[in-house]
Amino acid sequence: MGTVLSGLGLVKKYASATALAGVDVAVGERESLAIMGPSGSGKSTLLHTLAGIIRPDDGQVLLRGERIDHWGENRLSALRRRRFGFVFQSGQLLPELPAEENVALPLMLEGMLRKHAVARARRWFAPLGLEGLEQRRPGQLSGGQAQRVAIARALVAEPDVVFADEPTGALDQSTGEEVVRLLTSVTREQGASLVMVTHDADVAAHCDRILQVRDGRVHGHIQYTTAP
Ligand code: ADP
Repeated sequence: MGTVLSGLGLVKKYASATALAGVDVAVGERESLAIMGPSGSGKSTLLHTLAGIIRPDDGQVLLRGERIDHWGENRLSALRRRRFGFVFQSGQLLPELPAEENVALPLMLEGMLRKHAVARARRWFAPLGLEGLEQRRPGQLSGGQAQRVAIARALVAEPDVVFADEPTGALDQSTGEEVVRLLTSVTREQGASLVMVTHDADVAAHCDRILQVRDGRVHGHIQYTTAP
């Protein structure tokens, strides 16, 4: 399995804390990786560093073998739009736009005509169990439906990697289970890799591999032969 994204010797220090103390991590083609660890262990910093949002103090981030950590802001933000998708805990949809336009947004930001972008966006509604909800605004969706719209938006531009930060954190157990099952399966079917921060072991168990972090270091790995 080829490596899509890797971090080598990642270090990030803040005045009061060392968030990353030398982390090595590699994410394979179509692989889903869960990052777990106690609060304050460096999970979010690691995700944001791999996604080109936080610049490490030391170490390297490589996307398909190319170093990206020292790129300028404009180049990094274009990279994030084109090759990465993001799912957050909640509140990421624009409330004034219907669901289909929320999904189409990354394509329109890249200059695609609205009608073409919306047509492409609509294709994601059935695989995510959202048919019939295309015209709903986020306020008219349940928490689980809103997260499925966010997953569609993260995938619509066919990214190399989807980053998810506590994507089930605002959902009840069974809704969260459904959302993570769809997130992992649809991401894999699309051919993308997934990096997900979660504190929930049941959610992490849907991924191919779990990276345990403690005090900014990799503490251990759990590898599943096949994801459940
Ligand atoms: P986690 O996601 O595991 O809860 P974080 O990556 O958010 O951990 O934080 C790791 C450590 O770095 C913590 O001690 C946190 O307080 C510190 N930290 C994270 N971001 C900042 C920041 N912007 N400024 C100062 N300290 C930070």
